[in-house]
Amino acid sequence: MLRFEEDVSLKPYNTFGIEVQTKYFFKVTSASILKEILNQNPTLPIRILGGGSNVLFTENFDGLTLYIANKGIELVEETQNKVLVEVQAGENWHDFVCWCLDQNYGGVENLALIPGSVGATPIQNIGAYGVELTSVFNYCKALNLKSLEEERIPKEACEFDYRSSIFKTHQKGNYIITSVCFELQKPPHQYQIDYGPLKDYFGTSVPSIQEIAKAVISIRESKLPNPKILGNSGSFFKNPMITQTHFEQLLLKYPEIPNYPLDEPLVKIPAAWLIDQLGFKGTQHGAAGVHEKQALVLVNHGNASGKDILALAQQIQKAVQEIFEITLETEVNIL
Ligand SMILES: Cc1cc2nc3c(=O)[nH]c(=O)nc-3n(C[C@H](O)[C@H](O)[C@H](O)COP(=O)(O)OP(=O)(O)OC[C@H]3O[C@@H](n4cnc5c(N)ncnc54)[C@H](O)[C@@H]3O)c2cc1C
Repeated sequence: MLRFEEDVSLKPYNTFGIEVQTKYFFKVTSASILKEILNQNPTLPIRILGGGSNVLFTENFDGLTLYIANKGIELVEETQNKVLVEVQAGENWHDFVCWCLDQNYGGVENLALIPGSVGATPIQNIGAYGVELTSVFNYCKALNLKSLEEERIPKEACEFDYRSSIFKTHQKGNYIITSVCFELQKPPHQYQIDYGPLKDYFGTSVPSIQEIAKAVISIRESKLPNPKILGNSGSFFKNPMITQTHFEQLLLKYPEIPNYPLDEPLVKIPAAWLIDQLGFKGTQHGAAGVHEKQALVLVNHGNASGKDILALAQQIQKAVQEIFEITLETEVNIL
């Protein structure tokens, strides 16, 4: 019989540094143990946790928190210009990016320094500096919580979108991802350096993937708070997409509004700009706050509770709705 730890604080397991307790806690080191736990405890409420860098805990959990910690990287296929690498869900994402840089496998360099586990990367199709996970994702293996069978889920079935996939929408809570298989370039031959800050960084030079990763790390470190120093979960809100008509109305009042036209008849507006316009940037509300350099990042100045952070998030959502008639969706999972 597997033994669970009891009444465990999750403070060390979430980058916001929120103090909540879970009734039971278990560190999962293999897919077979995971299956065994679920078989033996069919009625116990469960919650899956990776690096805790995209969650906001707002209350104690009266169930079992499964901390995914299975490790391993395996080369499953190699051809002249690509490799398929299967990585266990509990591997740290940035460590895996560094491993790829050491092997000179291209494709994930722009995603350097994103906190969290490999298993969580498909959940919201992580993205940064012009690259999204979908561009390197081949398949993942996941335990179906209804059948308790492991399934191999190909890219087409994941319905990847901007910070979204089936695991965050209609299959939410139905799967536990146990490994992810990536298709990487060998040697690297396609680079994404058109994205604003990277373009400024490199100008017309053609960098290596190692140089791109170094630039990404340095830009990220200059802009984003380190969760080890100031609790946060990265971008708290998604960048909203509005209709062309709505955008044109806003443009009359705010001619300087930054925008990114999309393929569809929609326009993406940086949520950070909206929040900044309303004067929230750098403000503190008790122990909860909005980061001084990046208005999209909510921070824990010390002993904020999840409810304090949530109240601030709701205050921002309300103000953005009232002034711009835009609904801000959270990127962070509120639990
Ligand atoms: C400073 C900072 C910067 C960030 N920058 C970025 C960025 O540039 N781009 C970006 O996309 N994100 C960014 N994030 C958000 C976060 O790092 C990513 O979303 C990351 O993939 C979350 O991984 P995690 O292991 O910490 O997931 P967790 O926070 O542990 O979990 C997130 C969600 O996924 C579920 N989950 C986790 N693992 C599994 C699994 N194996 N199977 C099924 N469900 C699972 C959880 O139940 C939860 O609902 C940032 C966060 C921080 C703190």
